[in-house]
Amino acid sequence: MRITLASLAVTLGVALSAQAPPATLFEGARLIPGDERPPIEDGAFVVQDGRITAVGPRNTVTAPAGATRVDLTGRTVMPALVNVHVHIGYEGYSTWRASNHTPANVVDHLQRSAYYGTAATTSVGTSPLEQMLQVQASQRAGKTPPAARLLFMPGFAPPNGGPDAVLRVATNELKVVNEVTTAAAARAAVQRLADRGVRHVKAWFDDRRGSYPKLSTDTYLAIVDEAHRRGLTMHTHAIELADQKIVVKAGTDVLVHMVQREPLDDEYLALVREKRPYWATVIGLGDPTEVCRPDPFFEQALPPSVVTTIRATVERRPLAPSCGPPSATAADRERQMAINFPQMLKAGARVVLATDTGIQPGHTFGSGEHVEMARWVQLGMSPAEAIVAATSRPATLMGQTDLGTLAAGKRASFLVLDANPLDDIRNTRRIADVYLDGRKLDRAALRAQFSRER
Ligand SMILES: [Zn+2]
Repeated sequence: MRITLASLAVTLGVALSAQAPPATLFEGARLIPGDERPPIEDGAFVVQDGRITAVGPRNTVTAPAGATRVDLTGRTVMPALVNVHVHIGYEGYSTWRASNHTPANVVDHLQRSAYYGTAATTSVGTSPLEQMLQVQASQRAGKTPPAARLLFMPGFAPPNGGPDAVLRVATNELKVVNEVTTAAAARAAVQRLADRGVRHVKAWFDDRRGSYPKLSTDTYLAIVDEAHRRGLTMHTHAIELADQKIVVKAGTDVLVHMVQREPLDDEYLALVREKRPYWATVIGLGDPTEVCRPDPFFEQALPPSVVTTIRATVERRPLAPSCGPPSATAADRERQMAINFPQMLKAGARVVLATDTGIQPGHTFGSGEHVEMARWVQLGMSPAEAIVAATSRPATLMGQTDLGTLAAGKRASFLVLDANPLDDIRNTRRIADVYLDGRKLDRAALRAQFSRER
């Protein structure tokens, strides 16, 4: 009789958990590390207890005795994605409203994100604090199904300012935006949040072309200053060039959105060179391809009736991208973006993955990440740089340093792709498998769950 370590452990009454956990060797794939290192052709890595324990060219990695082997010849492996900007909770895939924002629906959105290869995603300024803390605690305790890790941050705006007209209907109902009108009130609110363990805050600094109340510059500067005094990371929404100058000069750690209607000037580019802000570009949802054209990648995770409704209503929604031929304004904006984006990169803006998913009905969580990456490359970024901007860099920004890189000690959260995204960034959509914490997601079961009619 062959005595295995497990049977010996049982015989001796030793807890099985005291043994070294079983290891898996993944071998033969091209490995894209996610940081600045070049890809490893014919690589291998060992996963044990949810973490990567060794990684390198195949001939340098030895598997522990008894390791399971997974042959990934011909495949490409890259770290799972980290998204720094979504609006979780409101989408119900037949309704879009405040009452959808329940822990169960948040977990559904996190599962959808994971399905498409996202390991962590961040709800920015529009989710109820207590509910976010509750879901985070459940995730940490292992009481939720495998899904993207939930991150969140509270947001600041003046009364009736902040989120756009669609989102605002829901955030008003839940009273989730911190509405402040004075520097003193803003400082007190930042302190209260810091005391609750919040690490990131967001402010909207935008009058939406004269149609919205906007934070006074004094109040905004007080939020940034107080956030930095308490060691918090500041994210700021600003669209116009004049506003982006103010927020970059004030030292916002993350600049949210892109100037799309004006040329940049030397004064602004000098500020970007000096401050090198993280830059959450958030262009993907402005790209009509996701919801206008039939796209199996987008549609696979939706009930057929929802796909039909999206197609029927997309043109009528006030903020939706137009699905017809591009208007003159849209074409102008596209031309301006093609100039501004490379200028920002050259000046040292540090792009991070951000999508705004959930801001309006009809977008699936997780698929927008792939649209955003493709937009960057279309506007002049290299695919290698796009992968860094979607993995290790946002992981560092969000303090999730166990994610975003294929390296020993990191969580084994990665994508297995059927084609090389360094050849064509749209190959990030060719997902064979998603692993989170060393476990393969059951994507077929998730797809069935997501596309069920409700
Ligand atoms: Zn947003």
